[in-house]
Amino acid sequence: MTARTPHPPSLWAAVSPPTPERPPLTGDATADVAIVGAGFTGLSTALALAARGVRPVVLEAAAVGWGGSGRNNGQVIPVLSKAEPDELEARFGETGERLVALIRDSASILFDLVRAEGIEAEAEQTGWVQPAHAPDRVRVSAARVEAWAKRGAPAQMLDREETTALMGSSYWHGAMLNPTGGSINPLRLAQGMAAAAERHGATVHEDTPVSRLERAGDGWRLETPTGRLTARAVLLATNAYTDAHAPGLARRLARTVVPVPSWQMATEPLPDAVAKTVTPGRHAVSDTRGDLHFFRLDARNRLVTGGALVTKVNGTERIRRLATARVARMFPQIGPVGFTHIWNGDIGITWDRMPHVHRLGPGLWTWIGCNGRGVALSVALGPQLAAALLGDREGAAALPVTDVHPIPGHALGRRLATLMLPVYRRRDRRPLPA
Ligand SMILES: Cc1cc2nc3c(=O)[nH]c(=O)nc-3n(C[C@H](O)[C@H](O)[C@H](O)COP(=O)(O)OP(=O)(O)OC[C@H]3O[C@@H](n4cnc5c(N)ncnc54)[C@H](O)[C@@H]3O)c2cc1C
Repeated sequence: MTARTPHPPSLWAAVSPPTPERPPLTGDATADVAIVGAGFTGLSTALALAARGVRPVVLEAAAVGWGGSGRNNGQVIPVLSKAEPDELEARFGETGERLVALIRDSASILFDLVRAEGIEAEAEQTGWVQPAHAPDRVRVSAARVEAWAKRGAPAQMLDREETTALMGSSYWHGAMLNPTGGSINPLRLAQGMAAAAERHGATVHEDTPVSRLERAGDGWRLETPTGRLTARAVLLATNAYTDAHAPGLARRLARTVVPVPSWQMATEPLPDAVAKTVTPGRHAVSDTRGDLHFFRLDARNRLVTGGALVTKVNGTERIRRLATARVARMFPQIGPVGFTHIWNGDIGITWDRMPHVHRLGPGLWTWIGCNGRGVALSVALGPQLAAALLGDREGAAALPVTDVHPIPGHALGRRLATLMLPVYRRRDRRPLPA
């Protein structure tokens, strides 16, 4: 047996206990449902299928949580990054309304799953905050609060004083607070979900890249280097990593997202007295900037933050400098800060900044394009995707199914995507029109 593909050098890989290796698929096998990718999407769908009495087989090219699911900031956020409720409902009608309700409930769905399955994921449902980075962005936050509160979300608007108290910093001007959000150790969550899915009857194979997917009778055949799996229905749960291991697997689909690197980093544990002053309520935070400022404390009081860079060249050093200066501006009380872990991962950006759900063929489903907000969403989508795979339209009624439209000039767009960063920074500085 080969050694399991290692995780990137993330904080999460360093602090999460080792898990048993799952052997690759060998020989010929059959399953009712095959799932490609063992991130939150694949594992949540596997859990939901198992709850419906189906025994899915999950094929993961590397290791459980190797993609975005094990590398992210661990913020559990019950809103999308750009698509607002009005926009989703205008575009998708009643399906949009159901999707908005699912997004509204998504953080609680994740934390409920953690509690129900007894998953040790350092989960803290302490709330998620989006502070406004400029006085005129308070208007944006207030509009968001109103839109979500209208749909029953417990969203609240905080004034400047309340925001300062909540953040432990006077850097922001007001904030939207949603108490259902929070944070997790994402790799432990993925690993815990895999173990739970197995307990309920799913099988998970690691180091099993699917290189080919073709129609076979009224089902599908999936080929891997050491085996073949035949299944009636298939979920491609490969998201931003759709062409990372097998570029030929789903070429058109891969061209519908631009994978954009996001850098993540963690400090040494902050001394207790300092940690108590940095987001004293231990909220997860992502502000209103396009060049996002985001952070949360982990279970050991490390500040886990990060940012974006235009190129990866000398990225570790450049992100270290950028984040050091940023942390000093946001939380001067921390003093000189040392980063012990720096890593990155790809976020799948779609042309319209919406999550895309596709039926790629009979019984062949996928969703792609989290646009940076996929932790809660991908877990919440699992039961919907499970229903779709089983042909249960009612159970899948929140899925906004669209046709696949590859982005024109995708290869070039992919190379140039990070050049948008200076544009976002300019927009962040520019006042909003009155
Ligand atoms: C650096 C970073 C920070 C983020 N921070 C946040 C955050 O704080 N909050 C938030 O809400 N969202 C965040 N996100 C987004 C979130 O992590 C993702 O939306 C979510 O994890 C997607 O889960 P997934 O299961 O759909 O995809 P992934 O977790 O990416 O899983 C896809 C899996 O498919 C596997 N795969 C690909 N091709 C094949 C193949 N041919 N055969 C077999 N397996 C294959 C990959 O190895 C991978 O494990 C972040 C993303 C990144 C990258």
